[in-house]
Amino acid sequence: SAGSGGSLLDTLLRRSDDSYVKAVDGVSFELMENETIGVVGESGCGKSTMGKSILRLIEPTSGDVRFKGESVTDLSGRQMRKKRTEMQFIFQDPTSALNPKMKIKHLLNEPLENFYDFDKAELAQRTDDLLEQIDLPKTVKDRYPHELSGGQKQRVVIGRAIASNPDLIVADEPVTGLDVSVQSNIITMLEEIQEEFELSLLFIAHDLSVVRYISDRVMVLYLGHITELGDSEAVFTNPQHPYTRELKRAIPRSHPDDDPAETEITEGEPPSPLDPPSGCPFHTRCPAYIGDICEEEYPDPVELQDGRLVSCHHFEEGDPPIEGEYEQYA
Ligand code: SF4
Ligand code: MG
Repeated sequence: SAGSGGSLLDTLLRRSDDSYVKAVDGVSFELMENETIGVVGESGCGKSTMGKSILRLIEPTSGDVRFKGESVTDLSGRQMRKKRTEMQFIFQDPTSALNPKMKIKHLLNEPLENFYDFDKAELAQRTDDLLEQIDLPKTVKDRYPHELSGGQKQRVVIGRAIASNPDLIVADEPVTGLDVSVQSNIITMLEEIQEEFELSLLFIAHDLSVVRYISDRVMVLYLGHITELGDSEAVFTNPQHPYTRELKRAIPRSHPDDDPAETEITEGEPPSPLDPPSGCPFHTRCPAYIGDICEEEYPDPVELQDGRLVSCHHFEEGDPPIEGEYEQYA
């Protein structure tokens, strides 16, 4: 297909003490052309590492990354840099992503100068078009990043990412740390850009509510494993994996009609990826724990009737629970 994705991706990260952490463990999925997948999970669950592995900003240890049907795993450094004009990464912190000594117009032109042959007038026109696309006034052209707000800087980062007309953008928590009102403006802008450019977008966020509306599908990661992957609205309104249910319960209450939600996930922090639990990685915190099987065997993903994938032993036999609360598991 024309989509992008990885199969059986593993990524080991080297730590300062020379030990290794398996940050991404056997992740396989396909992002379709013109599709947005939201990736959620607590910090340290492998979201960023997975996103970076797809663009080989971190080299996966094993597995294959395919982009528009072709493997990019074996491309040389130079070939990969060229390929990255078509597959772009948006970093979380716009301040460190922008060279403080460059004017905005040069920051927006830089991605084009490296691989394309535009003359001055064409570049100037391109800058104006990009500024319009990212809703910034032309007057920012001659400013420096420190003269812009956090939200404006993130718009410039997004402008740089779309400058080369990519087919894929991986956005790593692009709105984390911004004011809530700015967050929704930037998400709306990204959604418009995604539609206009017919991009495949992998939108990484820390919580479900951020990706709910922009995503076609949602992928939930826990300690480097996909726990649930399915239609965004279905996963949000009716989460199936016990971890997804906990994530939803932890979303701060935003609407008076919502159930009162707690802001903490049961059983505290995720375990250290240095010493991941045996069997199902969620078993040390799972409110729906069944028994020994959870500690002994990794649950293979099961496809539910609505097409979503869930990795949990509850779903391996007979009709999986679709409605209901945790009590149903007991
Ligand atoms: Fe919980 Fe067991 Fe399912 Fe893991 S496999 S999520 S521990 S019920
Ligand atoms: Mg991260």
